Amino acid sequence: MLLGKKFTILLTALLASAGPLTDPATANVYTKCVAPNTVALTFDDGPWIYECIRHTLQSIKLIAPSRKELSDWLTNNGVKATFFVNGNNYGCIYNASIVASLQHTFQAGHQICSHTWSHPHLTKLNKTQIATEIVKLDTALEKVLGIKTPWLRPPYGEYNDLVRQTAYENNKNLVTWNFDSLDSDGATAAQSQGYYDSQIDEHPANLIVLNHETEASTVREVIPYAVPALKAAGYKFVTVAECLGGQAYSSEGSFSIRDNTWKC
Ligand SMILES: [Zn+2]
Repeated sequence: MLLGKKFTILLTALLASAGPLTDPATANVYTKCVAPNTVALTFDDGPWIYECIRHTLQSIKLIAPSRKELSDWLTNNGVKATFFVNGNNYGCIYNASIVASLQHTFQAGHQICSHTWSHPHLTKLNKTQIATEIVKLDTALEKVLGIKTPWLRPPYGEYNDLVRQTAYENNKNLVTWNFDSLDSDGATAAQSQGYYDSQIDEHPANLIVLNHETEASTVREVIPYAVPALKAAGYKFVTVAECLGGQAYSSEGSFSIRDNTWKC
């Protein structure tokens, strides 16, 4: 009895001393797929004008009607991909043509995830600012697509303990990548194609690939080159949720009707 009491006191003391040293819960960070022989193509920084033909034809009229843009091209080639989108980066997510584009991509079965509201360096923000970046985009995705996403890619792949804590508190996992096509770092289409070739030669078990839907050369030259090459190498294309063995969305509802809150 006495020993038991002493043990309890000791345990209580240990727990008390451990308290301040225990890290707050933080979001998981995923850099590669779990499933073997899979490729998750990911496209950041949109939604933007190269995302699908419907958006381009209806609103921008920059390209020939016969041209299939990114999400349509992927769909027509049997590829499901993942789009990490912003709320207000290249364009405002509430813009009517962007809404149409994003809904079209979503309905085709591509996965839509968070890339924050305005694409800041999250590691330079305080907790409130980080939370605002996550929540504003969450609100927009719920209005525009009726979804809640559990997946967040921090802009520039940058995160620290505060980012991970705040992401966790907002029910997010962090997803980075294990192959960068370097399309947003000035690589030409030929260079990015070469990087894909090198990866295929190395043949890693699986890939989460960073691309940007905001680069016309990615949409029109690199992806049409890389997809057949990856297929020929025996890879299967999956969404980020499939590649990590998780749920695509933490909830799914219906698209909301536009109201006066749909503004950036
Ligand atoms: Zn980005």
